[in-house]
Amino acid sequence: MAYDFDLFVIGGGSAGVRCARISAGHGARVAVAEERFWGGTCVNVGCVPKKIMVNATEYGQWAEDAAAFGWDVEIKGHDWARLATRRNAEIERLSGIYGRLLKGNGVTTFDARATFVDDHTLQVGDQRITAERILIATGGTAQRLDIPGAELGLISDDLFTLPALPRRVVIIGGGYIALEFACILHGLGAEVDVMYRAALPLRGFDADVRAEVVEALTTQGINLNPDVSPTRIARVDGHLMVNMSNNFMREADAVFFCTGRLPNTHGLGLDKAGVTTTAEGAIVVDEEHRSSQPHIYALGDVIDRVNLTPMATATGHALADTLFGNKPRRASYDNVATAVFTNPPIGTVGLSEEEAAARGPVDVYVTRFTPMRHSISGRKGRRTLMKLIVCQKTDRVLGAHMLGEDAAEIMQGIGIAVGMGATKADFDRTIGIHPTAAEEFVTLRTRAREAGVLPPAQAAAE
Ligand code: NDP
Repeated sequence: MAYDFDLFVIGGGSAGVRCARISAGHGARVAVAEERFWGGTCVNVGCVPKKIMVNATEYGQWAEDAAAFGWDVEIKGHDWARLATRRNAEIERLSGIYGRLLKGNGVTTFDARATFVDDHTLQVGDQRITAERILIATGGTAQRLDIPGAELGLISDDLFTLPALPRRVVIIGGGYIALEFACILHGLGAEVDVMYRAALPLRGFDADVRAEVVEALTTQGINLNPDVSPTRIARVDGHLMVNMSNNFMREADAVFFCTGRLPNTHGLGLDKAGVTTTAEGAIVVDEEHRSSQPHIYALGDVIDRVNLTPMATATGHALADTLFGNKPRRASYDNVATAVFTNPPIGTVGLSEEEAAARGPVDVYVTRFTPMRHSISGRKGRRTLMKLIVCQKTDRVLGAHMLGEDAAEIMQGIGIAVGMGATKADFDRTIGIHPTAAEEFVTLRTRAREAGVLPPAQAAAE
């Protein structure tokens, strides 16, 4: 049968655009449908506008700290509308580039929703289109909790359309978005309460990093409320009232649900195509990103594996090379470096101490220090933590973790070393760049402790 396209991509975000562009470059006839905005979450309501907001908070702090370095700076306040205008213009520019990139590579684009009619046919706006292969790259959407008054709360997308900085903010959740939003809003002048159901935020991160970020945020004046969940939100006299499971209440001008994201699969007609999902709606795929229908693939947040833009683009590129470039390959999900843009930020790659210790004996190296800049500025809550986890058997560095200025920038390079299997001896023989914080990663000489070592009786038994 002759199909209209060799590949039809549903979703013009990071995964879909990369896969479409590279596939077309390999000579395939490709189309993409996007119903909301080109570039997806990352460009429009995620990483990019968020990072601009993070930059805005940094400028405020640098301006405040400048006095200690001899500058006379008068800070008259922050203009939310001016920041929003500049941010939105940049987002529009980048989103436009995504659309043009596709057209420039000969990809047919549809500003429309696409749904399955059958496993090779899609309804795209008012057209029926057939494709030999189909890629589902529809991303995810932030979720509110199912509590009374939930509709009064905002989700992360809403930060980028708020007309003004809310004076008092409650953030529900303790993950990436919760902590980043807490730092942005506090950094721009809001009073911020974060409530999360666990004892520490950032589940899955190294325990020292989780404890250190609590210390850093609390010292700066962000109110962290562990071990609680919201039970109800109500509008009272023009503001919001959040009831908490510990019977406390918080008044707020805005409440953000940062309680995770669900894959965008609802209403796609997956049943008509025979594509199966998990109970949460994530598309089930194999190692080649093939769904239960071998010619239908899925990538990015819709498979809910490693929900990061660079992972989506890497897997999208690899799939295009495999399907149309005669270069079968996979992008590895191992040792993916990541950052949380808190203030200060977190950078991490590889295993946490807990994960590594569960696999075998490790040596743990930790340092904490105040960066030189803040010895002068005197700014509180800016202590840096750096940590390496080293396998006792092989000397390989299994994990590197940092909370501190430039952690995201520093961790990218460390990620290359860890991905290549660098040993602690490799780190030790590397000459530091002085004076930097990064050099601490190559001068960690004193082991703080060992972990994952079985008691002698148990070791003998195994
Ligand atoms: P996360 O999974 O990071 O955090 C979700 C938070 O919501 C957790 O604290 C979780 O608690 C809490 N939660 C979930 N369900 C409930 C519930 N029923 N009641 C109370 N609390 C609940 O999701 P995010 O939405 O913050 O981010 C989504 C993903 O997007 C991230 O995992 C990351 O992959 C990506 N991202 C990456 C960024 C970056 O690279 N800098 C920035 C932002 C997002 P618990 O841990 O106890 O389950």
